Amino acid sequence: VKKSEKPSREVKTVCPYCGVGCGIYLGIRGNRIVSARGDPKNPVNNGRLCVKGRFALNFVNSIERLEKPLIKEDGEFKEVEWDEAISFIADKLSKYNGDEFAAIASAKCTNEENYLLQKFTRTVMKSNNIDHCARLCHAPSLVALKESLGSGAMTNSINELKKSACILAIGTNTTETHPVIAYKIIEAVKNGSKLIVVNPTRIELVRHADIYLRNKPGTDVPLILGMCKAILEEDLIDHEFIKERTEGFESFREYLSGLEWDEIELLTGISHDDIREAGILYASSPTASIIYAMGITQHVNGTDNVFALSNLALLTGNVGRVNTGINPLRGQNNVQGSSDMGALPDMYPGYQSIDNHREKFEKKWNCKLPTEKGIILPEIFENACKGKIKALYIMGENPILSEPDIKSVEEALKNIEFLIVQDIFPSETSKFADVILPACSFAEKDGTFTNTERRVQLIRSAIRPPGDAKPDWWIISKIAKKMGAAGFEFENPREIFNEIREVVPSYSGISYKRLESEGIQWPCRSEEDPGSTFLYKDGFTRENGRAKFILPSLKLFETPDKDYPFMLITGRSLYQYHTRTMTSKVRGLEKFKDWKFLEMNPVDGERLGVREGDFVLVKSRRGAVKAKVKFNEALMEGVAFMSFHFALVNCLTSSVRDPLSGMPALKVSCVDLIPQ
Ligand code: SF4
Repeated sequence: VKKSEKPSREVKTVCPYCGVGCGIYLGIRGNRIVSARGDPKNPVNNGRLCVKGRFALNFVNSIERLEKPLIKEDGEFKEVEWDEAISFIADKLSKYNGDEFAAIASAKCTNEENYLLQKFTRTVMKSNNIDHCARLCHAPSLVALKESLGSGAMTNSINELKKSACILAIGTNTTETHPVIAYKIIEAVKNGSKLIVVNPTRIELVRHADIYLRNKPGTDVPLILGMCKAILEEDLIDHEFIKERTEGFESFREYLSGLEWDEIELLTGISHDDIREAGILYASSPTASIIYAMGITQHVNGTDNVFALSNLALLTGNVGRVNTGINPLRGQNNVQGSSDMGALPDMYPGYQSIDNHREKFEKKWNCKLPTEKGIILPEIFENACKGKIKALYIMGENPILSEPDIKSVEEALKNIEFLIVQDIFPSETSKFADVILPACSFAEKDGTFTNTERRVQLIRSAIRPPGDAKPDWWIISKIAKKMGAAGFEFENPREIFNEIREVVPSYSGISYKRLESEGIQWPCRSEEDPGSTFLYKDGFTRENGRAKFILPSLKLFETPDKDYPFMLITGRSLYQYHTRTMTSKVRGLEKFKDWKFLEMNPVDGERLGVREGDFVLVKSRRGAVKAKVKFNEALMEGVAFMSFHFALVNCLTSSVRDPLSGMPALKVSCVDLIPQ
């Protein structure tokens, strides 16, 4: 490190990338981030960081940052002062009301900012049309775990994985997407834990696994039910737990009895013996944990996948105890918090339904609230295409790349009468905006993020924002006040957090003062409560206190046929992040791994007559994109992979949705590969 690049001070904060929520010390010189090191005292990462946390934070210093509010005039953006931008927005928004308005909150923004955007949408715009990107990642977890256990969150803690006797990693490429958690899993294996990996791709974690099941893409339900069936047949179920703490077991037992092993083998491509061996290992271990991610949720049967996993844990009593649990690994840094804060069309903050808690919130916010349930993220775009959503406020999101079937999203954005995009960089989405508002990055504001294990942590302002960029909470408050609304007189995020504590019971014992030293895991109900490392010790949070077995359907979405013979899986790379609004500004990251390829097994390459570096047209029922071929022996024959960092991959995916959670079929699509 050159002397001129050595930090002159350090600021303790939290990594802005994935849901692990690693503690970080930012090294600052002048007004620039020049280094980052892991916080050795943070219990989440104990000083460790992955490549993004260590080397990919200087996107904040990029000269491409938005610095002034911009208003579109005659097709061109012109710089304006904040007063003009706020008056312009207030004036425009006052013309829309209720169902004509929608807002998209952000898992990159703080709890305080998400809380304010949903409050603005509900109290000022009188609409419940608010949603965020969890719809595209863990909406099935929220729905399924809430229904089966009582709460849609990770039941246990990251560090418990180190002591779990058996870890089932299913639908997660943990080394790429949650690297610090992967490190803890590998550490656990070295210390004697057993590891079962279920994944269509021979991922890095397989090298450490005791059992690897390579199922066909999209066949997790039959595979998990097969494990349950084997456990039942071997009588390895936890009789006492089932009797004392659950309901619905008899129907589940009957359902399993009706499943034929032949069908399970045919659907999954895995033998009865291998599934049985995995079931026995999981059920006979004294403690067993399940971790999963988008490989489970991003399907039209994503909710069924999670129901199946929940049943597996309930069958063996592996929930409600330390070192066990069912643990959705959240993708973005604050996706848990955005959901906790009520950026959801049917729930107020703290998962309090709009049907049952309206009176409470009307009293607290001192206004009448809309009674109709709002619409979910994909419906916002569908309704915009139909002209029903006329004004849209997007905070820190780039839906034109992240949504499925992006052609229709583009059509929707063009159709919207008034579009506000608030972000730190211009994006593919902001081109369509009427107003672009420059926001602060994580390093330029205070607030809280809630990580994947429900840990609320403080982020701290380390440098001044560029130009006139402002924190999202400041911008929302200004617009609300300009529109004459009360309840937005906040001077700082601490004041907003204090209001959150008053309305969200599971956050009520958490204060900024307490967070100064260390993060706290919700539920935390009083100043004396240390928080909860794991859930459901004393009962499930469903109405009758019992967890419920729920019967998932075996139905598959798309299966290969003669026109679309390959299954395309989408996923992520360790070296990039989502739609790359941040990582594309970090020089050097692309040298580590090129993300623009279509990966396929070399046997498929030979069959198609293509070599590495050749181009193929990747064609699905929705659209087509060209991509360069790269061989990857880790993939099954007949299965191809593209990273969704690649700009156009969502031309190929389908917007057909999971009926229970609204999750589109982002993970697997059937495609044809045509050599060019
Ligand atoms: Fe950041 Fe996640 Fe890497 Fe930790 S594991 S440093 S939170 S990207």
